[in-house]
Amino acid sequence: LRACERAELYVKIVRENNIPFEERGPLQILMGEDFFILLHEVMFVPSLQNLADDEQLSWWLAKAHDYKILGTYAQTELTHGSNVRGLQTSATYDESMYDGEGGWNVHTPSLEGMKWWPGGLAKSCNCVILMARVVIKGVDYGPHPFFFQVRDFETHASLPGVELRDIGAKMGYNGMDNGGMRITNVKIPRRHLLGKYVQVSKEGVYTKVGNQKMLFGTMSYTRLKISTGAGLNLAKACTTAIRYSAVRRQFAMQRTQFGEDVSLKTEGEKPDDMDAIVKPAKRSEAQVLDYSSQQYLLFPQLALAFAMHFTSEAGTKSYDHYIAQFKAENFKGLPEMHVLTSTLKAVSTVLAADGMEQCRKSLGGHGFLNAAGIGPQYLNALPQATYEGDFVVLSIQVGMAVFKACGRKLMKGLTKDPNNPSLDYLFAADLKELKTPTAPSLAELQAGITDFDFLERCMEKRANFVHFSAAQKFQEAVKQHGSMNANAIDEVKIDMMRMTYAHSYVLYVKGFRAKLDALKEGPLHKVLVPLFELFCLTIMDSGYEKGGGFGEFAASGALPASPAAFAILRARVKVLLAQLRPNAVSLVDAWNVPDYLLNSCLGRYDGRVYEALYEQTLYEPLNKTDIATGYYQHLQYILHPERRESGAQIEPQTAKL
Ligand SMILES: Cc1cc2nc3c(=O)[nH]c(=O)nc-3n(C[C@H](O)[C@H](O)[C@H](O)COP(=O)(O)OP(=O)(O)OC[C@H]3O[C@@H](n4cnc5c(N)ncnc54)[C@H](O)[C@@H]3O)c2cc1C
Repeated sequence: LRACERAELYVKIVRENNIPFEERGPLQILMGEDFFILLHEVMFVPSLQNLADDEQLSWWLAKAHDYKILGTYAQTELTHGSNVRGLQTSATYDESMYDGEGGWNVHTPSLEGMKWWPGGLAKSCNCVILMARVVIKGVDYGPHPFFFQVRDFETHASLPGVELRDIGAKMGYNGMDNGGMRITNVKIPRRHLLGKYVQVSKEGVYTKVGNQKMLFGTMSYTRLKISTGAGLNLAKACTTAIRYSAVRRQFAMQRTQFGEDVSLKTEGEKPDDMDAIVKPAKRSEAQVLDYSSQQYLLFPQLALAFAMHFTSEAGTKSYDHYIAQFKAENFKGLPEMHVLTSTLKAVSTVLAADGMEQCRKSLGGHGFLNAAGIGPQYLNALPQATYEGDFVVLSIQVGMAVFKACGRKLMKGLTKDPNNPSLDYLFAADLKELKTPTAPSLAELQAGITDFDFLERCMEKRANFVHFSAAQKFQEAVKQHGSMNANAIDEVKIDMMRMTYAHSYVLYVKGFRAKLDALKEGPLHKVLVPLFELFCLTIMDSGYEKGGGFGEFAASGALPASPAAFAILRARVKVLLAQLRPNAVSLVDAWNVPDYLLNSCLGRYDGRVYEALYEQTLYEPLNKTDIATGYYQHLQYILHPERRESGAQIEPQTAKL
């Protein structure tokens, strides 16, 4: 109900302000949570735009833009999600239907072939882009997209032959009514097969039209949107965690950032100069944000959120550039866009989810309350790592593309590919150095640790080490298995996962650095520099939750493989944490996340955490009455077993708190 209420509000704002479809993105972010109308905007409409021919667009697009129809994307089935070729739902062509105009008999052949998961399918949407196998005269052409109506446009009742249901409560993300659908011999017109890339004539002749490569457009767009959203989710969690850590106090510790380590005064001592700078309360109990360990938990996540944000900005620019090229029939940049958006989607969603949980854990006990905000937001963000390509499945695509680039470098000696700029570092790799790496000396590390070129080179060197050593293993596997078959690919899947992380860290570092370069030497630059350095050192030191750490950097020769090198990194991390502390709250305030969107008693802007925690209990259903129903139904008989027999039980009263 709440999702429907919000959807109505969203549509009201769009209609009253005549917001064009392309400009609805910021409003979607301000909704704060995924629900059916957003899927309509992000999946249904773009799919229609990219897959329907002009005549079909004239039937459906304006209605979709104006919410006269509400749609979703129905691909996944009970037994097949990642493997789209395994889908069972079929659309069998019958040229005798519709007075000889031809039509499709759409059918779910088994329980396993039931559509399962599409968002909004259970109760909200009245039509879908349905992926179903095209079968014409006994020939199976594989899954294709159809426009398929599931509910009556007037009454909203499910149509005959269409069984719809909600698939059940989820860990989170329950604002979305993910649905299941079984279709029993439903007839639809021939022209409901989306026809931008495939046409079927009345006679049942199947023809491919247009350039099939454009098909990648929607997929890349959605992946980019998801990775951008992941960065914002992490930024929200950082905002709550850092603000609360500045409010929360535990134990006593003297702040030393002000230049002196003054011992705590005992009661009755006279105020001194320190009191002018640090409030007495601060001196008796420290803000937990002053503890280096708390900073070590949180500031790397803040750095990651900024890295994701800047890289998404750069990614969106690249996307716009390539889409313009594709529209002009130039598809040379297709592999670049594919690898870029797949890498960012795969890694950002996993790192953001892990980072959000890290932020939640740093909130102590109160972090476990829904009122803290991060827990429910984390659970809502979790499925981002799965839908639209799970991490492993995407890393296989990234890995294969990187192998191709390695091959061109090794076989053809290519030193640059203008159509693959994000892999410039791979083409520029020094092959001799890759074979016998020479690590920097400790002195070079000490000097380089604040040098952006050095830090960026470390990421690249490590990534090339991972890419080329995996490419070699893949070559051996292909020889062993006779071809580039599934078994050969399976031998390097673990490596492909690591390659995807390594490549993503290069992208993030470059994205972050490009922003710093654009800011030049201004005040913002100064504030962001330690964050950038911390981001790089976190990858090299302990690593983010996944895909980082000292080991690969040492093995690749990007860093000296010695305990002393590790100590240099760790010491520098500590310096950076202390540098960041005074600006930490301002850095999260800079995200400017409104309180309603943060939806957190702990992260609210005014810091009135404890009042908010108390106030939210007033909305708790269990607090509506002093004595809970459980007492009347069960507890009283535990405490007073005689009441069962005597019938002298106490009846519910409705006294409010
Ligand atoms: C909240 C949510 C919303 C969704 N919304 C929609 C929607 O609107 N429309 C829609 O059509 N679908 C939707 N989905 C479905 C989603 O797209 C799929 O669940 C997703 O693509 C993963 O596919 P799967 O479930 O088949 O996982 P599987 O592929 O079965 O994954 C299981 C495990 O197998 C591994 N695996 C799979 N293939 C390989 C391989 N080749 N090599 C190595 N490992 C492999 C995976 O990495 C994973 O660890 C949604 C799912 C969720 C959770």
